[in-house]
Amino acid sequence: MLKYRYESMFPHQLREILLKNPIVYLPVSPLEWHGEHLVFGTDPFRAKMVLERVWEELGGVLMPTLYIGTDGTKEKDGEIFWGMEMFAEEKIPGSIFVSKETFYNLLKDMLFFLERTGFKICVLCTGHMAKEQIEVMERLEKEKNDENFKVISWHWGKVNYPKELMTPNSLHAGVEESSEIMSIDISYVDLDRIGEKEVDRRVNLTKDSLKNINKKFGDERFKFEVDSLIKKILEYKK
Ligand SMILES: [Zn+2]
Repeated sequence: MLKYRYESMFPHQLREILLKNPIVYLPVSPLEWHGEHLVFGTDPFRAKMVLERVWEELGGVLMPTLYIGTDGTKEKDGEIFWGMEMFAEEKIPGSIFVSKETFYNLLKDMLFFLERTGFKICVLCTGHMAKEQIEVMERLEKEKNDENFKVISWHWGKVNYPKELMTPNSLHAGVEESSEIMSIDISYVDLDRIGEKEVDRRVNLTKDSLKNINKKFGDERFKFEVDSLIKKILEYKK
């Protein structure tokens, strides 16, 4: 089975894979604050992990991760709050967003070139679940959908997890996400720092609400999500 990382592929390899397996995978998510206990790359790492594992199974071309994404804003007392800041009602250094319009245009331009290059399917995956991020991805999935080029937009909101792979109250940077990041790399989660700052506690990231973080839960959720995405791609390829 042919599989390449785009950045280390030669033109003759591109020609061959476009004939035999013209599918490309693009992980896309912003650097974002995820509480004191998680690294800023949480969402991009998550999107990359899902697509990398699908790519290992189905082959095709894996694009380098795009560290970009958007989120909602709210204005209060002349200050603009982005993303999680809307809930904390204070500035939280760390997140790097772009406007919804920039995000849409950038992805649209990249998809134009992927289609022009000769790919037939592009799987976009985000780990960032902001409403604005998902809206852009779903819009692109609708707009790019014909026999020449099809976009599949993927995020964990599309997964029908069984009960045992969910918690009753899924939070941003909560048990699900933290367990998954632990499954990617244990050094990306610092359990000792949970709830250390007032701002964490204000968005319910506390020792108590996060006490069930564990790697095995993350492993199982990833496996289930990867299997779901593989099924969806194979359905489309039929
Ligand atoms: Zn996240």
